[in-house]
Amino acid sequence: MRKFKTESQKVLDMMINSIYTHKEIFLRELLSNCSDAIDKLYYKSLTDGVSGMSREDFSIRIEIDKEHRALKVSDNGIGMTAEELENNLGVIAHSGSLEFKKETDGKAEDLNIIGQFGVGFYSAFMVAKKVEVLTKAYGAGSANLWVSNGTEGYEIKPAEKEENGTEITLYLKDDGEENYSRYLEEYEIKDLVRKYSNYIRYPIKMEVTSFGEGEEKKTEVETLNTMVPLWRKNKKDITKEEYDKFYADVFYDQEEPLLTIHTSAEGAVEYKALLFIPAHPRYDFYSKNFEKGLRLYTNGVLITDKCKDLLPDHFAFVQGLVDSELTLNVSRETVQHDRQLQRIAQSLEKKIKSELINLQKEDREKYIKFFEAFGLQIKYGIYDNWGAKKDLLSDLVMYRSVKEDKLVTLEEYVDAMAEGQKYVYYATGSSFDAIKTLPQTEKVLDAGYDVLAMTDNVDEFAVKFLDKYKEKEFRSVSGEDTGIEEDETVPEEDKEVIDFIKESLGDKVAKVKLSQKLKSHPVCLTSEGEITIEMEKVLNGMPNVPKDGVKATKVLEINAQHKIFEKAKKLYVEDKEKLRTLSTVLLNQAMLIEGLPIDSPTKYAEAVCSLLAD
Ligand code: ADP
Repeated sequence: MRKFKTESQKVLDMMINSIYTHKEIFLRELLSNCSDAIDKLYYKSLTDGVSGMSREDFSIRIEIDKEHRALKVSDNGIGMTAEELENNLGVIAHSGSLEFKKETDGKAEDLNIIGQFGVGFYSAFMVAKKVEVLTKAYGAGSANLWVSNGTEGYEIKPAEKEENGTEITLYLKDDGEENYSRYLEEYEIKDLVRKYSNYIRYPIKMEVTSFGEGEEKKTEVETLNTMVPLWRKNKKDITKEEYDKFYADVFYDQEEPLLTIHTSAEGAVEYKALLFIPAHPRYDFYSKNFEKGLRLYTNGVLITDKCKDLLPDHFAFVQGLVDSELTLNVSRETVQHDRQLQRIAQSLEKKIKSELINLQKEDREKYIKFFEAFGLQIKYGIYDNWGAKKDLLSDLVMYRSVKEDKLVTLEEYVDAMAEGQKYVYYATGSSFDAIKTLPQTEKVLDAGYDVLAMTDNVDEFAVKFLDKYKEKEFRSVSGEDTGIEEDETVPEEDKEVIDFIKESLGDKVAKVKLSQKLKSHPVCLTSEGEITIEMEKVLNGMPNVPKDGVKATKVLEINAQHKIFEKAKKLYVEDKEKLRTLSTVLLNQAMLIEGLPIDSPTKYAEAVCSLLAD
């Protein structure tokens, strides 16, 4: 009996006592090793000029032996000599596992750092109490058998084997909390191969049982893996139906995707990617439970179902996969910060954007469908990280134009701007109709300018970060300076009336002013400074607001042309007390138009009645 080297023993102990939940990945590890061993021999045949060997001669086999609770995985690859057995399986030699060992040293309980990466041959001990490796190196005269139960050490002894290659037999652990017997079921093995090893380039064969007519049992050898993945095929050989079927099968979505992006990159980063934009958000998309990410394959082997570092949050809705020949490290931490992954992620981000822009230009109806499903996510993306991604995302966002009553891009808005128009005007509110009828909106429309209606809570914040589009500043129609000419010269007698109204309203408003541009409405409420009225509403709706709430600095604008102002002027001379009542009524009306709560509906109703009763 030979002892394992100390560091190997540590990893082994962890594997044996593993609380790691994905024990099933042992099969992926063994199959990947088989594939590597065949690659090595095939490569050798090419370089050493060994003739008569072709790719078709190679295969991997899985056998189930229920009687002995054994699972056998074999290949006809390069095999190992006794010395190689000793060096490869007696000690952890490769960098991946070394890295792994360093990270886990002395804290065996810290198992969560076993990422989904290359845990290697020893992972067999997560499910097996004994492992046998029968192997014959290519061109060698004799074979050897390596046997170990993982704990004590291992033995190597001469053995008989006809063909070159390696045959690994796992004697499964007894069932307990964990059901190891499942690895003796054909369907389970089929599932695992399809899940993790579907795109191994050599056929993975297994004898499967089927029931023919009557009760007759038939067995036949089946190839379990597809080998050539769809994304590695030439784009022009793939039909839309194939893409759609793949999407439906892999991502469990019966509705065909809005957009399919099949792309590859060469040079600094090399990858192939197959991405889909779903037609609708998943049921949990806008919840905390949703996990973004792409499937990551390397060399045809599935590494992880959801590599979140491949997708930025603003494109979290994208489904798909990336296949890249990465040089991988064991721990998940290292992978997350992997430069290669970062580069791929950057390249994908650009690609997704450009494809979305294409869709926007070429199929507006579809793009609008996309935007209705995921526009909110794009808007959050603009606002996220202090606007770090606004330049990337501002072309994707759309708002409803009040003039045209349809969604337009910012580019379209700016291109259609009127002579002399300096700003991009927007109005915020709870609905398109509310915005359309806002007196301030009316004012801007009358000046001949369009207004973008913003109805999502995030809009007001996102627009602050957008700041400008193509050098054009955004201006709220309710802001203090809309840049629209107003006749500011107020006659002295009007000014006195205005001042009186302000005084009677106290600090409920910061300012009262006469407006020349209000058309039909008698009054409106605008704001000064950073916090707008819409923000006041959103912020006060959030948990943990300060006791007095957040307040915008409000300005009450009164229509100088409106009859009600005539009335106010008259009251100023004849009945100041009544003018006070009228002032509060006007302010309350302006609040109601804005959708703000008024202090006392009862008092408001009384005031209105007292005015009407006269
Ligand atoms: P890795 O595959 O990441 O190097 P493993 O622990 O899985 O690490 O395997 C260790 C080594 O054992 C491999 O590098 C390889 O040299 C050898 N090996 C494992 N399985 C086979 C096999 N089926 N045929 C030939 N060599 C193998």
